[in-house]
Amino acid sequence: MASNRKILLLPGDGIGPEVTRQAARVIEYFDKRRIASFEVKEDLVGGVAFDRHGTPLTEAAMKAALDADAVLLGAVGGPKWDNLPFAQKPERGLLRLRKDMELFANLRPAFVFDALADASTLKREVVAGLDMIIVRELTGGIYFGEPRGISTLPGGGRRGINTQVYTTDEIVRVARVAFELARKRGKRICSVEKANVMESGVLWREEVTKLHAAEYADVQLTHMYADNCAMQLVRNPKQFDVIVTDNLFGDILSDCAAMLTGSLGMLPSASLGAADKGGRRKALYEPVHGSAPDIAGKNLANPLASILSLAMMLRYSFDMEDEAKLVEQAVAKALAGGARTGDIAQAGMSRISTTAMGDRVLGELQKLA
Ligand code: NAD
Repeated sequence: MASNRKILLLPGDGIGPEVTRQAARVIEYFDKRRIASFEVKEDLVGGVAFDRHGTPLTEAAMKAALDADAVLLGAVGGPKWDNLPFAQKPERGLLRLRKDMELFANLRPAFVFDALADASTLKREVVAGLDMIIVRELTGGIYFGEPRGISTLPGGGRRGINTQVYTTDEIVRVARVAFELARKRGKRICSVEKANVMESGVLWREEVTKLHAAEYADVQLTHMYADNCAMQLVRNPKQFDVIVTDNLFGDILSDCAAMLTGSLGMLPSASLGAADKGGRRKALYEPVHGSAPDIAGKNLANPLASILSLAMMLRYSFDMEDEAKLVEQAVAKALAGGARTGDIAQAGMSRISTTAMGDRVLGELQKLA
């Protein structure tokens, strides 16, 4: 059995350690049952790292992240650290990880568990069975483009500038991640931009089309303008399999898609970097939610986003599709059996703790395995 799967846990702040602990129990389960073995290390990030070391991410933790095959992060931040200087803020730790690991593709699935279809603000028939994923370009585009800034005009008025800019390489590498993903799913990609009004969108469309013809003709490719995509996501989200889009549109559309599914406590994510010679990508997995200071330390948080982030790790970093599915099925069964933390409990349902939700998922895993 291969034991070269190196995982770094960075639980972070607030509810981060509580939810990451439940995901770590799933790793320990696979290890104990000899289904797969992992080498797990743990370090600090965010406010807790600042409290201990005076920095939100030590060089040693950064090195451990670069050495690992995959990082599982909890959450960073909280009111205790809100007034720190910019460079020491907890978020800087996470941003440094994303930057130094060169994570350019952000994967945000929107998956509706049948037991939670009524938790969406949309009608059950619109969201039941939804299983799509948005691939967002994460390190380019208007959030990083130059020139940027605010200048004062001769008349005393001011001008704010940001620049939307993409190169062929930036488009092709993220599109490649999306095409590879589509191949493992429903083999359909929708590429989203605004080629009708933006040159960067024209280039995006041309490069994605070229890559498709050259290497991925077995995947169905369609194109859509971002404004139409926003409408389609709430009108008929089940038409999508994989959406690939730029940083700005991806930021907005992935939040929109996330809310189709109900609660923040259910949403996993992955951020991937370039593949090395052996085909392995640097990767960071994390729940979409933050550190939830309002419920931190109370054993109330929903750990499923963290557990589902771990399932993504098994799938994308370790090629363990069967085990990833097993974890997702265990979550589905726990939910079907009525397991609910406060954030996903409907009126009249009893609420269980973070650890009890972990127990339920592990119990289902045992029954399934
Ligand atoms: P948040 O996601 O932490 O919380 C928003 C609301 O959702 C809160 O009411 C919270 O109790 C609830 N919630 C979130 N996750 C939950 C879970 N797993 N189970 C049950 N309920 C859950 O967002 P916020 O309140 O805007 O931010 C709080 C702190 O987290 C801030 O310091 C912010 O900067 C930080 N933050 C960090 C990340 C990250 O680490 N990636 C992301 C977003 C926010």
